[in-house]
Amino acid sequence: CGIVGYVGSTDGSDAVDVVLDGLSQLEYRGYDSAGLAVPTPSMRVSKAAGELSALEDVVSRPGLAGESVGIGHTRWSTHGEPSDANAHPHGDAAGRVAVVHNGIIENYQRLRDDLVDAGVAFQSETDTEVVPHLIGRYLDRGADPEAAFRLAIDQLEGSYAIAAVFDGSETVYAARQDSPLVVGLGETGTYLASDVPAFIEYTDRVCYLENGDFARLSADGAVITDGEGEPLDRATETIAWDS
Ligand code: GLU
Repeated sequence: CGIVGYVGSTDGSDAVDVVLDGLSQLEYRGYDSAGLAVPTPSMRVSKAAGELSALEDVVSRPGLAGESVGIGHTRWSTHGEPSDANAHPHGDAAGRVAVVHNGIIENYQRLRDDLVDAGVAFQSETDTEVVPHLIGRYLDRGADPEAAFRLAIDQLEGSYAIAAVFDGSETVYAARQDSPLVVGLGETGTYLASDVPAFIEYTDRVCYLENGDFARLSADGAVITDGEGEPLDRATETIAWDS
């Protein structure tokens, strides 16, 4: 199971390439399905059960070429069988947000019941799918993307590394609790991953997120904040890595 995220500048790399390369570097973690989302110029999600090659077969590269923002996921199922529908990313009904998640949301059943009572139609059997629908509910109430993301994460109990992208936006949002996430700071873009090998070919400057941290990635870096939104001064390390 793994997460990859990327926000590049205009002279950065193609997001689909970066995300697929990163996911292949995380294959050692094990997975049963994979998917990715590119939110610009408008949200597109591709996903497939099985090997990464199955995802590559369904990714419409010509349609996605040249975009510089994306998130990807390899899934190790805990809730819901391995299937195309249960593969991540998951979204809200309106396609405003796409979310990938590693870990287990322990209180998902209660959250799901509340959302179903409010009229939300679920597309998967995953614990994860409550997250985009919660984000959508806060967007409906007028929250901006970052506030909606934070408010949704605040509802979660359990373990998670989560990344989200919003329709038309060149920002990747992330949150971490008991599941690893590391930010990579490159010359022409910013990376997010479960583990360093996902982006080591692009940068060796990294910043590990800690439990309770939030991160907002843009092409020129990352802002890491605590649960109250206060900026945190997490150390940037240059790592030696024999790949
Ligand atoms: N619990 C989530 C699911 O079953 C995420 C699993 C994972 O860590 O890949 O979809």
